[in-house]
Amino acid sequence: MPKFPSLVSSKLPTVQTSIFAVMSKLAAEHQAINLSQGFPGFDCSPELIGLVEKHMRLARNQYAPMPGVPELREAIAEKTEFLYTAQYNPETEITVTAGATQALFTAITALVKEGDEVIIVEPAYDSYAPAVELAGGKCVFFQLQPGTFSINWAEFQKLINPRTRMILLNTPHNPTGSALSAADMQKLEKLTHNTDIVILSDEVYEHILFDGLEHQSVARYPKLAQRALIVSSFGKTYHNTGWKIGYCLGPENLMAEFRKVHQFLVFSVNTPIQFALAEYLRNRDAYLELSAFYQEKRDFFNRLFKGSRFQIKPSQGTYFQLLDFAAISNERDVDFARKLTIEHKVASIPVSVFYHKKTASSLLRFCFAKNNEELERSAEKLIQL
Ligand code: PMP
Ligand code: GLN
Repeated sequence: MPKFPSLVSSKLPTVQTSIFAVMSKLAAEHQAINLSQGFPGFDCSPELIGLVEKHMRLARNQYAPMPGVPELREAIAEKTEFLYTAQYNPETEITVTAGATQALFTAITALVKEGDEVIIVEPAYDSYAPAVELAGGKCVFFQLQPGTFSINWAEFQKLINPRTRMILLNTPHNPTGSALSAADMQKLEKLTHNTDIVILSDEVYEHILFDGLEHQSVARYPKLAQRALIVSSFGKTYHNTGWKIGYCLGPENLMAEFRKVHQFLVFSVNTPIQFALAEYLRNRDAYLELSAFYQEKRDFFNRLFKGSRFQIKPSQGTYFQLLDFAAISNERDVDFARKLTIEHKVASIPVSVFYHKKTASSLLRFCFAKNNEELERSAEKLIQL
């Protein structure tokens, strides 16, 4: 096909293919064990698959209502009230989305105007900044404390000014596995008091927290919740990242704006899966047991690396573990991750890609949502280094 370069004046000139696509492709090309892109190495529940089939056979195969099927919105409202004692009206305050990525993009597109500042906490999930840029907003980056990956609120406060439109948070945090505490939320409450700042809270790992920690959803804090859109994803909770269904919660005025964009981005999402999830959500154990399930995986993975030259960083939640390779190599993390994939057959994600400056790092992110045998085989290859 002939190319006409004059046709393209990129809206995202510095953006490259997402690291998740790059590393998964590299892993496949080199038959490496793929601990890079975050997805479970095991299947979702047969019961849930059965429910999808049931609803397909019940002919629930046409467009769902624009904000989502009422049964699912009601089930989400019940879950949110049960977990966080927060009340969201399914009619006006909950929208079902095609995964968290779409919810985040929709929220940013709906609320950020030309010149608005959006505070993004780094390291940051890769979809945030491009969405802000496409909306004409200005990304203002705040760095988590190296080592602990916590927020220094005194420093954070310095970034807030009358142009600040949005603060984008993610807890539990991808890629570091850190989690915000109740004290963090109280600080945020103070900081945003008497402002028009919207909080966009990415809580896709809300059901994966370790060592008895409780998820500090923004929904638990009424003063924050009234200025927040909260995003979650069923893919992380039910081991079906490929289904791409998530949802967004928020007060009616913010949700009305969210829906204005949602309706033209996707209109509505997969109908039979929504009915199936509505039924499956009644089984509270399925999400309540997830933390214990993944804590065992985290501990198993960490035991395998004890005594190796990789330094294990604390992981309080998510299904990611950071390992520091400074004692093994002084290569750039991007080069080291490539080398591990091609030569040692284990793929991971270099952490520098989560910083806008691609700041050099000696950290790699490994996804431990895999069968123990696969984790064992990965460790066998890596602990020799
Ligand atoms: N936010 C974070 C922090 C994530 O880790 C992910 C996916 N791993 C998403 C959003 C996107 O979720 P989804 O696949 O539901 O679009
Ligand atoms: N969120 C997943 C991760 O962090 C990947 C999702 C994607 O591939 N876009 O690895």
